[in-house]
Amino acid sequence: MKCAVCSRQAKGLGWFNARLRRSDPGRYSDRWVFCSMECQNAFYQIMNKTEGHMIDPTEMEIAAMRSCLSPLGEYVGEIGMTRPLADYSREEVLTLVDVVVSAYQAHMLAEHERMAARDRTFLEQRIAQQQTTAEIRGAM
Ligand SMILES: [Zn+2]
Repeated sequence: MKCAVCSRQAKGLGWFNARLRRSDPGRYSDRWVFCSMECQNAFYQIMNKTEGHMIDPTEMEIAAMRSCLSPLGEYVGEIGMTRPLADYSREEVLTLVDVVVSAYQAHMLAEHERMAARDRTFLEQRIAQQQTTAEIRGAM
């Protein structure tokens, strides 16, 4: 199971939408699992502000991937920009993976925390936008 915020391995921390009745299938989701209290809290704050609407993480994932480019470039620069990947030691490849994964996770958590801190109007606009996009996609 992956953390719903940062995609790290989840560790048994869950969440349910207490606004909905026990019989409502929207009350629980097996995707609402977290790696840490930090991620659980960021998620909880967004859900609280949006009254249970989750924001599509796709845009955030793309931004998180972009945020990996700079640390990736820095590390490759450190160990030798002109070296082919085939010449990397196992340790260097693992460090490269770690640099990218860490940057990705840090961005995802920071973005969720930033969203949680934003005002409710902003979050409602995002949700409305998302629904419009889904409707347009559905109409095509
Ligand atoms: Zn997490």
